[in-house]
Amino acid sequence: MQRNGPAPGDSNRLAIESHRCTVEGCSKRRKARGWCGAHYMRWMRWGNPVGTAPPKPPRVAPSHAEVLAEMREALARAEEVGT
Ligand SMILES: [Zn+2]
Repeated sequence: MQRNGPAPGDSNRLAIESHRCTVEGCSKRRKARGWCGAHYMRWMRWGNPVGTAPPKPPRVAPSHAEVLAEMREALARAEEVGT
């Protein structure tokens, strides 16, 4: 029994290549839009698959009082729904 057409090895390699992330230097499997999961996520977050995180604005952690106020509000809302 002889197979016709390209050798299975070749077509396999091509299929794998076409499933690679299109970002240069990245050999991960393509997941969406031609990028692997990591590069796709970058694009989702920063609009650029090869971008880096934009400088984050300084985040101030909520104070205890703020957290308590939020919890009371949530509780109040839950009680309103119950009645
Ligand atoms: Zn990638």
